[in-house]
Amino acid sequence: MNAVPTVTLNNGVQIPQLGFGVYQIEPAATVAATLVALETGYRHIDTAEMYGNEKEVGQAVRESGLAREDVFVTSKLNNGYHAHNDALKAFDRTLDDLRFDYLDLFLIHWPMPAVGDFVDTWRALEEIYRSGRVKAIGVSNFQPDHLRRLLAETEVAPAVNQIEIHPYFPQDELRAFDAGHRIATEAWSPIAQGKVLDDPTLTDIARRLNRTTAQVTLRWHLQRNDIVFPKSVTRSRVEENFALFDFELTEADMAAITALGRGDRTGPDPDTFNYLP
Ligand code: NAD
Repeated sequence: MNAVPTVTLNNGVQIPQLGFGVYQIEPAATVAATLVALETGYRHIDTAEMYGNEKEVGQAVRESGLAREDVFVTSKLNNGYHAHNDALKAFDRTLDDLRFDYLDLFLIHWPMPAVGDFVDTWRALEEIYRSGRVKAIGVSNFQPDHLRRLLAETEVAPAVNQIEIHPYFPQDELRAFDAGHRIATEAWSPIAQGKVLDDPTLTDIARRLNRTTAQVTLRWHLQRNDIVFPKSVTRSRVEENFALFDFELTEADMAAITALGRGDRTGPDPDTFNYLP
């Protein structure tokens, strides 16, 4: 089996650098898909209250027969629960739904800057962290201005910032900001939900290395030291996305892929996204 490297977070917790994302996997399909990932060797699952499949992720971890401590599970606070007490209750529901007695990583899913005060929300996450029921806390879709406020006004620095990153949106400035503050960067939609897969630069590199375009793209993320969790419900793709540790991209390949950046987000802009479910 391929050995997945781990990244050490700023509080010493280790996270597998490659995981499995379950966004847009129907609850009814989630147990089977997650079991395929765990059978393949993935030991890191990225879910969220918003995805509606936390119960099924917990069930798959139990059905896999793996020890709870051998699978790293992330979930996220949904946008409607940013008020301090709502956040505390939402975390309890997440743990209940997963039927876990602790979570590995809990994130604020979106900053929602026009809706409320994410600094107060973060203090709720700090409280949960101090209770010992989560190993690490972090944020998702936070911009430098949002992070600066957390770093200046609160005590626990976020362990991760989970943001949209792919070859058409490499986010080097925000990644550098994260790194400069010992915040690990996680790349969501790492293959831009498939939109980069026909790119000629990527397909040329893939052909030369006898790999798929998805593999080349995921390898690019790993060599930048970001954490990724591609999503697929197709066993062959789940396996393909895990076979990333027996080849390497050259510096020239890396630079050519990064140069594809053209400011193309697939998702919303965190500064203006204020969606309440
Ligand atoms: P992704 O970039 O992982 O793309 C997934 C899609 O690409 C799949 O639906 C599948 O059709 C296709 N695909 C996957 N592997 C393939 C392969 N080998 N060959 C061809 N096609 C392939 O997109 P995503 O699911 O949006 O992102 C991954 C994970 O990131 C999510 O599941 C979720 O956990 C997380 N995420 C987080 C946020 C956030 O706001 N924090 C937002 C979006 C996604």
